[in-house]
Amino acid sequence: MSRYWSAVVSELTPYVPGEQPKLPGLVKLNTNENPYGPSPQVLAALREAAADSLRLYPDPSASELKQTLADYHGVKTQEVFVGNGSDEVLALVFMALLKHEAPLLFPDISYSFYPVYCKLYGIDYRTVPLDEQMRIRPGDYAGPCGAIIFPNPNAPTGIGLGLAAVESMVQAHPEAVVVVDEAYVDFGGDSAVALISQYPNLLVVQTLSKSRSLAGLRVGFALGHPDLIEALERVKNSFNSYPLDRLSLAGAVASFRDEAYFQQTRQAVIDSREQLATALAQLGFEVLPSQANFIFVRHPRHDAAQLAAGLRARSVIVRHFNAPRISQFLRISIGSPDDCAALVRALRELL
Ligand code: PMP
Repeated sequence: MSRYWSAVVSELTPYVPGEQPKLPGLVKLNTNENPYGPSPQVLAALREAAADSLRLYPDPSASELKQTLADYHGVKTQEVFVGNGSDEVLALVFMALLKHEAPLLFPDISYSFYPVYCKLYGIDYRTVPLDEQMRIRPGDYAGPCGAIIFPNPNAPTGIGLGLAAVESMVQAHPEAVVVVDEAYVDFGGDSAVALISQYPNLLVVQTLSKSRSLAGLRVGFALGHPDLIEALERVKNSFNSYPLDRLSLAGAVASFRDEAYFQQTRQAVIDSREQLATALAQLGFEVLPSQANFIFVRHPRHDAAQLAAGLRARSVIVRHFNAPRISQFLRISIGSPDDCAALVRALRELL
């Protein structure tokens, strides 16, 4: 704390991302990164973009990327917003669309960045408990509210909500914005993108960090009614004209042009997830049904923090949240088949 800090900074409790240790031979299953590299076409586009043109500012409206996303998802370019990772998109969404008189609603077990943005912007919020099976129950979101946000599939549970359930929430709140954070949707979830043309209060946020193996490039986007997108553009253009640099723009566009690679790698992650879930169930773990690139597990007879420490001693890192309701769970990202095998070996030793 410094006397030079503004009052808002003194009050902040920043989000803490999963650690990025630089140890050789580490099996890193703690931040839901994709074990497969980006498409070779993306790497080629990045090499080509690493050129003299970097002396020029990038396109502030990211037109080519917006057009690519609009074509890919069958929407209009005015229905597309892009940002520096979906975290930045979310930061702008919270400021532009989620601060109202009535409280914002989100699940009690959810992406732990949401309460951080609320604190930053002074947004009143209320958490809605997941049911006993750790599921979002749409009926629990009935009644007046300022807005709603939830990940689908949810994080860190991995549990997805069906499209009809999402639509029922959007329909139940025509006066409030409903944001669906689809960071993990490509690993088997139901996307709400098809609904945006029908519901002016629905905003869908996605990222290239997970299913497109581009966490290091930082590209995310939102799809929704042009009025919602305009609100985001207004905030973005009051903050940073160029959140996406020339390399990010080139890499992101190339990623959507290599559909075969996308399909192949996301299916490989899904297949590994199912194998890992089976292997961990055989070791006595309770495994929540996941539609994401991670699984959320607990062992009835072993403390989660101790398991995480034991895994770390064996050079395997997973995520443990010391938070109410989930302190006995571990969130394990789906790695390569070798990573998953190393995890199972280490757990066998520990149990
Ligand atoms: N939403 C959820 C639910 C996430 O888990 C993450 C990853 N931490 C993000 C958004 C942000 O991802 P990115 O900024 O890499 O797009």
